[in-house]
Amino acid sequence: MPTSGLIGYVWDDSFRSLHHHSGLDIFGPTRIGETPVYAAYDGYLHREQDWEASLILRIPEDPLRPGEQIWLYYKHLADADGLSFIEPGFPPGTHDVFVAAGTLLGYQGNYSGDPINPVGVHLHFSIVRSSSSGGYLNETEIHNTLDPSPYFGFALNQKSVGDRIPVCP
Ligand SMILES: [Zn+2]
Repeated sequence: MPTSGLIGYVWDDSFRSLHHHSGLDIFGPTRIGETPVYAAYDGYLHREQDWEASLILRIPEDPLRPGEQIWLYYKHLADADGLSFIEPGFPPGTHDVFVAAGTLLGYQGNYSGDPINPVGVHLHFSIVRSSSSGGYLNETEIHNTLDPSPYFGFALNQKSVGDRIPVCP
C-alpha cells in the first residue's frame, strides 16, 4: 500500500453527481505532515513544475498487463497553503527519477488548491493509463484509470465494496 489509514473512498465511488472517483482516498490517523507516503511499486518519479502537492510514478511494465505502461498518481501532499510535504529530493521539475518500492515520497496533507477550504488529511492514489505517446492521461476521468483491486489483491471498487470499509488482508 502507498500509505496507512482508513480507506474512506474507493474506486468508482460517487460522492458528487456525475462524478466517479478515480482512485483510493486513504485517511491517515494523524495531523498533516505526519503519515508517511511510499512508492507502491518500483517506478520513475515525475513532478511537474507547478505541482505543490502531487507526484506521479511511471511504471514501464504493468505487472498485470505485460507490454502496457501505467502511472501511479499521488495527491494532497501539502498543507492548505501549498507548503509541500513531498521529500526535498523530489522538487518540482523532477523528471523520471528511479524510486524503488517502499521509498519514502512524503507525507499526507490536506491541500485542495483552495486555502480556505482544504480537504481532510488523506492520500488520493490512482492507477492511471498511459496515452499512446507514453504520457499519462487525465486521472480525474475514471475511464483513464484502472480498478486497483487486482493490483492490491482485495476488493477496492464500489461495486464490490458497497457501504463496507475495505480492510487490507
Ligand atoms: Zn480521492
